Formats: sequence, C-alpha cells, structure tokens
Amino acid sequence: MTHTWNFYAGPATLPAPALERAKAEIPDWEGTGMSVMETSHRSPEYDAVHQGAIGLLTELLDLDDDHQVLFLQGGASLQFAMLAMNFIPAGGSADYVNTGTWSQKALKEANIVASGRVAASSENDGFTRIPPVSGYDLDPNAAYVHITSNNTIKGTQFHSFPDTGTVPLVADMSSDFLWRPFDANRFHLIYAGAQKNIGPAGVTIVILRKSWLAHANGNLPTMLSYTTYSEKNSLYNTPPSFSIYMVRNVLQWVKDQGGLEAMERRNRAKGDRLYGVMAAHPKFYNCPVDADSRSYMNVVFRLPSEELEAKFVAEAKAAGMVGLKGHRSVGGCRASIYNAMPPEGVEVLAEFMEEFARNNG
Ligand SMILES: *Cc1c(COP(=O)(O)O)cnc(C)c1O
Repeated sequence: MTHTWNFYAGPATLPAPALERAKAEIPDWEGTGMSVMETSHRSPEYDAVHQGAIGLLTELLDLDDDHQVLFLQGGASLQFAMLAMNFIPAGGSADYVNTGTWSQKALKEANIVASGRVAASSENDGFTRIPPVSGYDLDPNAAYVHITSNNTIKGTQFHSFPDTGTVPLVADMSSDFLWRPFDANRFHLIYAGAQKNIGPAGVTIVILRKSWLAHANGNLPTMLSYTTYSEKNSLYNTPPSFSIYMVRNVLQWVKDQGGLEAMERRNRAKGDRLYGVMAAHPKFYNCPVDADSRSYMNVVFRLPSEELEAKFVAEAKAAGMVGLKGHRSVGGCRASIYNAMPPEGVEVLAEFMEEFARNNG
C-alpha cells in the first residue's frame, strides 16, 4: 500500500489511531458483536460513547457548568441560519466580522431569517488579513458578534479574539477548532463542522452557554431550536452516532497526545516550516496573507504562474501528496495541515516545495 499525505481542506485527514480503533471495533464493538453504527442510540453502550465525547470536550476545553456540548446535523452551514433564528430577536440585528466566503454565507443566512450587519471587513484588502479590532464598528445593542476564527479558503486566522464587552461573542470554528488552547468559556456559542479538525462529516459540534437560552426565540420548529438539543442532551431524535463515535476517537487521541498544548506546539512547528520555505524562496513562493494573519491550518501560496501551479499540484500528487489545489474561488495552492496531519507529512511537503523551486525557479 502506498502512503498518501492528505492535504484536503475537508473532509480531511484523520489521526491514524482513531481510524485503527474504528477498524478494530467495527466487527465487535465493546463485546456487543456488532458495530456502534448498528446499535440503538438509547443503549447504554452508545450512551458511553455520547457521554465520552462530551466529557472529553468538556475536559480539553475546561468548560464551566454553564457551557454545554451539543451534537447537531446540517453542517456548519445550517448553523448560519439556526444561530440567527434562535438569537436575533424581532426587530434586532447581529454584528458580523466579514473575513471571507464563510463569513459572507453566515451573514447571508442571518439576513434571510432576521437581520445582520457588517461590523468590520477585510473585503477591500481581498480578505488577506484579519481586520484589526481597533477598527470594529460594534453595535452595543447587537444580539451577538459573529467571527469566523479561521478562514479555510483565504488562509487567514484570528490569533486573538476580540473583546466585545457585554455583547455575546459567537464563532464559527469549523476549520481550527481545538488547534490550540483557548478560553471557550468567553464565548456564548461556538460551532464547528467536524470534518476539518475533529472527525468525519455528519456531525456539527456546538458549544452553547446555557443561560443564553433564556433569550432564545421560543417559536421555532423543534429541530431548529437549540433548546431541544440542550434539554434532550442531543438525543431528541437519532444523533449521527457513528460520526460522534469517530469524534470521540479523535478527542481521545488529542488527549493522549498531551491535549491542546501539545496540538499547538505541533501545529506551530508545522505551519512555521511551510511559511519558512516560502520565506527562503521569495521569488518563487508568495503567501498573499499578511504575516500576522496567517493560518496554521490552511497555508495558502502562489507560484510564479498558473502553469507552474498546475505542475506543482500534479507532481505533488505523483509523489503521494493530494489536495494541494487552492479553492476553486481563489486558485493557487493550499496545504491544509489540521491537527491530524503528522509533522512528517509536512516535512515531506516542505522538502518537495524546496526541490520544486530549485528545479523550476
Ligand atoms: C467548511 C466550512 C464551513 C461549511 O461547513 P459545512 O459543514 O460543509 O456546512 C463553514 N465554515 C467554515 C469556516 C468552514 O471551513
């Protein structure tokens, strides 16, 4: 079997031990003689998985008693609308920091069901940086302030989170959730589709400040109300049990690696290695993102021509590295190096980039 280094932006590479555990447990999980995906979501065996995943997240993020972990479906994309439906009151509005495609989609959905406004934007800079907090035009009456902590397509990332005072802070962390330690208790709501940094597609993690539910809109369809998930511990209907099981395996791996501090050390070393190659070959590789806004999850770069970019992607693929083409909306190249990408994979890519620059520069 050939080894593939998977740089896709999502669904993305998973930790080998999490996959190996699933492989071993599919024929006979916990002595049940069946797999977790065939088992009732009301069984005690499944409950241990469900509670295990919640417990690991609570522990890794040191969540306080007012913060609850929920499992939803519909991807991060459904959260764009659900957030606004639940928390923008009639006649009110929410503030959005516009840092690219995903922020724009979040804002668009807010404007379909309620009202959102742009409090800051880097659109005029081609989204090549995170707008400085000093320039935010915040509405003190906003229902919340929404940020996209990592911009998967543009390769930018918040390196510190804004202080929004008494206005609730909400983040889409789909592409950098758990990449490093952070104070999750500062947030009123965090959401993340699992398929980038913490598991397979099919489950969306929501971390919700329970006391905020007192302000939620009451008149919503059951499945679109956070209150339902909160009151029923995400078991009102059938949860995506296999995806949650895989998330549990990934979280256990994160803990075994040394938790979020270990993730951060690993991720910084990986990102610095790739940005270092670009700095060493400035005439060949260009990172369009401002130095202080660069993402440690999605490293974007341009080569001197589109022809060379196509050649780079093709030769990398032949050498066992897939998923290096930039998003179709921006072109160029992108290496997604989430938590599960081993340092060895990044080293293989870095050496390939150096050689490619020597051969084609
Ligand atoms: C991928 C992505 C989304 C969309 O996620 P889905 O689960 O496909 O709906 C939203 N926000 C960010 C930041 C993403 O990277």
